[in-house]
Amino acid sequence: MDSNSADPDSPAVSKLQLRIGKLSLPDQRSLHHWLGELIASHAATAALAAITPRTGREVVAQRRLERVTYQLELVRCGKPNCRCAIVGERPHGPYWYLYRWNGQKVVSEYVGKVLPAVVRDDQLGG
Ligand SMILES: [Zn+2]
Repeated sequence: MDSNSADPDSPAVSKLQLRIGKLSLPDQRSLHHWLGELIASHAATAALAAITPRTGREVVAQRRLERVTYQLELVRCGKPNCRCAIVGERPHGPYWYLYRWNGQKVVSEYVGKVLPAVVRDDQLGG
């Protein structure tokens, strides 16, 4: 993670700081906004790439789009009397779940047994 921390003495950064310092305030604000969006985008991409299966879940398929990850998951619900709690019994599902960055963290949404057509079409196109 040390490689991600900014180095204030980097020649490239010093050079940019000199040039940015000469920009107008509106340009500096515009640049600030752009940089914030860029950093947030990196954070979202990294977080979505690092999704780990939740307890009792088994990921059987994954579809990654630009800012959204779809996962097909087998689910053990955790209820002690459910058939899925028996070793050797099949879990629930599989069901598709959507994972997206909400600006602060990755959140998940239940999609259903069938992947939306727009996602399937995207896969066929690639
Ligand atoms: Zn169950």
